[in-house]
Amino acid sequence: MEKILNYIGGKLVEPSSGKYLDNFNPSEGKVYSLVADSDENDVNEAVRAAKQAFPSWSTMPTEERCKILLRVADLIDRDLEKLALAESIDNGKTVKLAKAVDIYRASANMKFYATAAMHFASEAHVNDGDSINYTTRMPIGVVGCISPWNLPLYLFTWKIAPALAAGCTVIGKPSELTPMTAFLFSKLCIEAGLPAGVLNIIHGLGGKAGQAIIEHTEITAISFTGGTVTGKKIAATAAPMFKKLSLELGGKNPNIVFADCDFEQTIKTSLLSSFTNQGEICLCGSRIFVERSLLDRFVSEFVKRTKELKVGDPLDSSTQLGALVSEAHLKKVLGYVSLAKEEGGKILAGGNQLKIDGRCANGYFMEPTVIVGLDEKCRTNQEEIFGPVVTIMPFDTEEEALALANSTLYGLSATIWTENLKRAHRVAHQIKSGIIWINCWLHRDLRTAFGGMKQSGVGREGGWEAIKFFTEAKNVCVKL
Ligand code: NDP
Repeated sequence: MEKILNYIGGKLVEPSSGKYLDNFNPSEGKVYSLVADSDENDVNEAVRAAKQAFPSWSTMPTEERCKILLRVADLIDRDLEKLALAESIDNGKTVKLAKAVDIYRASANMKFYATAAMHFASEAHVNDGDSINYTTRMPIGVVGCISPWNLPLYLFTWKIAPALAAGCTVIGKPSELTPMTAFLFSKLCIEAGLPAGVLNIIHGLGGKAGQAIIEHTEITAISFTGGTVTGKKIAATAAPMFKKLSLELGGKNPNIVFADCDFEQTIKTSLLSSFTNQGEICLCGSRIFVERSLLDRFVSEFVKRTKELKVGDPLDSSTQLGALVSEAHLKKVLGYVSLAKEEGGKILAGGNQLKIDGRCANGYFMEPTVIVGLDEKCRTNQEEIFGPVVTIMPFDTEEEALALANSTLYGLSATIWTENLKRAHRVAHQIKSGIIWINCWLHRDLRTAFGGMKQSGVGREGGWEAIKFFTEAKNVCVKL
């Protein structure tokens, strides 16, 4: 069986323990490869390599760094089909989505930050002819980048690209549930001529390999994307060590539908924002709030189209929802459907595990699910489910819609549907979320600040924010 190895000091190497974990294909429910079960010894080795590589990588002419990172992007483009297939097999997502979104975006991340490094400039401030201040931004050193399983290569590259572009050397850890594309990526880095030790990829469990990264005294900054509970644990370890922290955490995002919306566009996009990637996107709008005068029409059309969605073999090009990432996650999501029923919710569509014939008979599939009849305070509407499950609730006034939207501890993203431009801006202004979409969803511009408020995170990624995060600012004041 294929072994997924660590990438340390420019080489693919076995974990020091010699141990491996099973890696599942979630659409077939069976083990198809083995992933390195790394520990602190592997992390120590990776940090040694990264420290050794830092002086030459951080001082390399920016154009050279840019060229190497662009070569990696070109190789991702060359291997688009292969990487998309690997992502689909590893995660359960449809190969169509992996190709159009995940792998396309992994390449875009590399290109965006490779070229951004060429335009990064320091600030200068002239003080009334009395003095000049200039601020230098130096790469911070060896950094840790930890990413989740839902958009594996997409989110992995979203972190490492700005770190490498800024001149840092990196210890990366993908989720042990979806390690395959990061492994293939390490081979592409070798082929592209990325100098040894600049990027090191450690595979294994969060609580062991991940924790060793967080605890390592010579890793100076941590960029983490994952659940809020894990984020808290990471902060508890890293904050007293005065490490720089960027935390992109969970969401429970509102999708607010006013009666004057463009109905067809709203329904079409709301289906996507509810169920794309089996609802396993932190930006999915899992709480749909509909103005009461439109409620019946919205619910009946949304439920009808939800029932028409095709769940099935992720490798079939007509499939719209693939498998959930793991058996444990499927059980967790189904557990929330049971909870919703206990809390008085009515299931209008889905709610069940789905058995698919043939190759995928043992896969972790589930029907897309629509629930009504719950209030905003119940656990179903407060906790992140991270699966193909949405609730629909009515509202009567703009104020009520806002109160409902802001009624959780999360504040990642929100979507607003209305043709009234003034109202759209007014509501956007008052929602406590870091990312707002008006009459669209997941429409991304990589230059914009990305991240959440409240328990959805600390700090922002995207654009200059990420490059700045991986640098240390120093101000020099010159008296004239
Ligand atoms: P987890 O928090 O379980 O894991 C995220 C990563 O952290 C994994 O690589 C995991 O490893 C690792 N990890 C776990 N424990 C530790 C630890 N103690 N120290 C260091 N690393 C650790 O999240 P999931 O993988 O389940 O991802 C889903 C979550 O991610 C959802 O809550 C979702 O909202 C959030 N997310 C947020 C996004 C955002 O931009 N705000 C974007 C995408 C997802 P392992 O898997 O091996 O245990």
